[in-house]
Amino acid sequence: MGRGICQEARRRGHTLRECQAGRGERPGPACDREEGPPCPRRGRLQAAARPRKSSYKSHTSWIYDVLQMSMHTAQHVVSALIESKLQLPTLAWSLTQHPAPSYVDLPRALTPAEVQLIQDEANRLVFEGRRVHVEVAELQAGEAGIDTGDADDALAGGRAAGRGLPSDYTGGVHRVVVVDGVDRSPCCGTHLPSLASLQTYLLPPPPPGASAPVRHHFLAGPRLLTHLGAVQGLLARTAGALSCGPPEAPERVALVVDESKRREKRVEEVERQLADALGAGLAEEMRAWTAAGGAGEWTRYVGRTDDTPTALPFLLSISSAFAAALPEAPDAPHGYTMLLSSSPSSQTPSTTTVVLLFGSDDKKVKVVGEELKKQFKGLKGGGRGTRWSGKYTGVWLPEREGKVAATILQPST
Ligand SMILES: [Zn+2]
Repeated sequence: MGRGICQEARRRGHTLRECQAGRGERPGPACDREEGPPCPRRGRLQAAARPRKSSYKSHTSWIYDVLQMSMHTAQHVVSALIESKLQLPTLAWSLTQHPAPSYVDLPRALTPAEVQLIQDEANRLVFEGRRVHVEVAELQAGEAGIDTGDADDALAGGRAAGRGLPSDYTGGVHRVVVVDGVDRSPCCGTHLPSLASLQTYLLPPPPPGASAPVRHHFLAGPRLLTHLGAVQGLLARTAGALSCGPPEAPERVALVVDESKRREKRVEEVERQLADALGAGLAEEMRAWTAAGGAGEWTRYVGRTDDTPTALPFLLSISSAFAAALPEAPDAPHGYTMLLSSSPSSQTPSTTTVVLLFGSDDKKVKVVGEELKKQFKGLKGGGRGTRWSGKYTGVWLPEREGKVAATILQPST
């Protein structure tokens, strides 16, 4: 089969040498196009990832191409090494959108030692500056469609199954990307002429036992440097927030998390004791009121100021403690309706006050709840049985809104 230049290179007036070197040409059905047959390596650049093309090739577009080419060439090397060293085919791959790590999907998770092996091998080739070139041969009549290149074939026959051309390939040329001494793969994409700038880093593998296909991420060349800069920035910010050096950051974060868990547990315990005390105090108030000759229904409004993010659970704890502390005698006057509110210490028209209404008579609770909603336009809520809860948006002052609410609670006579 004689070698020739690809149609696109011919159209652009490039020589055979330029075409084979893989410089300045975008042959046939390129896998980085939006349309066209699939790349024999079964990957294609996501169309959305490409910047919008203007009428001229801008500088940023050129940089973008270099970034994508770097990752594509590195992907060939990573896939080839995983296959030759570990006998594992690449089931799928994606260059992803810059600056996210690219990935290859494998039939199983690599071990950390295997990841290290592939990374070391890749960087040995990089250190040697292995050359990359493109070989293009014109297809003779009837040569198109050597294999289908679909995923099932790849699973059955390994990576080699994808080395032919897709059946719908119409490019007229057979284009092979060659990494000297490492890999020969049919590919329509553009590549760097050398591995020299493609230092490669494989991210730690997923835990063993993950179901296939297992995704392994990697970075190379400029994208690796971008990633390094981003990670360094994150680490510096974390260390700054913890007032320590970057090396101490992981231990310091672990310490902070541990302390936070213990503090949370302690706050929970203190809140439970406080709710018990408040509930018991209210029950005692009701008992005193009864002892002093109070008859019928006892009503009470309590407005709290609390910056807790969990106001309702705390108010519910108070209501439970109150119910538990009530006298148990069957003839005890249990008729009561109570409203608790919890507002933040600094209020604005957009802050929220949580209200909890509860009582001994579910019908009364329902009526009062509806009445509260009518009275306060910023209040939304509902309930079931003897409890009703809601959220009020706006400024809630105990001596203003609280006073009005307390009036609504009182039994109609
Ligand atoms: Zn390729």
